[in-house]
Amino acid sequence: MIFSHTQISQFIRCPRSYRYRYLDGWQERDSRAAMIFGRCFETALGAYFRREDPTAVLFKEWGLYRDAALDYKRGDSWDRMVHQGVHLLERFAQENRVRVPRPKKNLQVKLLRSLPRDNQFVAYLDAIGELDGTPCVIDWKVTSSRYPEEPEGLLSLDPQLICYSWISGIPEVAVVAFIRKSQPEIQYLKATITEDQRKEYGRLVETTIAQIEAGEFPSHSGIRFPQNGCVSCAHLGLCLDNQRLIEAKLTRRPGAEDLDWLTELDE
Ligand code: SF4
Repeated sequence: MIFSHTQISQFIRCPRSYRYRYLDGWQERDSRAAMIFGRCFETALGAYFRREDPTAVLFKEWGLYRDAALDYKRGDSWDRMVHQGVHLLERFAQENRVRVPRPKKNLQVKLLRSLPRDNQFVAYLDAIGELDGTPCVIDWKVTSSRYPEEPEGLLSLDPQLICYSWISGIPEVAVVAFIRKSQPEIQYLKATITEDQRKEYGRLVETTIAQIEAGEFPSHSGIRFPQNGCVSCAHLGLCLDNQRLIEAKLTRRPGAEDLDWLTELDE
């Protein structure tokens, strides 16, 4: 089996949700405008580092979705997002704090790590480069709100960054957050991941995979208001047996019905 940070964190958050997604084949519908725009923007960033025209690439990529029926959050629209994206690209070029040498090799870097029992772990790093002259792993985020910067050191607890440090062996990590708002802003956040954190993440991966292999997927229905993870979980319709929610949020991988016997075993 090949595992990823997304799989591990989904199992930790709710094993039942993991089973729905990775065994039963229920995937969230890909219609969130913000998420799709984020992917288009990251493709444009790649063009910037390859010294191509990032604005043209953004228009081309995001243009594919101009007439698509996407879910826009309140206040967002296709036009508004493309303008925000262009402003952010211009600002990023002006600020000129990030370098990615040899972009073909150092953008979207695929790393594989062998695990016990013939398992593997895969991660795709957005970039390996330099922020303000410091070599680091870089994660792009396109978001509509700022990342919290207080208390100091908070970013060093980010599990995805710890994962990237663990698989690459690089202690310095950074998030470059492109904030879509009327006055575009870019946050450059840095953290250092310790050797102990990397070892701990490795143990977490191994114990989580052992639980997955044991085939137990109890539901962790989150804590109570206001941070109930079920409210934002794409699989809520399955847990509530609500057909309307299932159809609105999910699509099923072709052929996944063949694994429905797992549900019967579990019950
Ligand atoms: S709705 Fe809640 S219990 Fe059900 S899969 Fe999602 S997080 Fe788990």
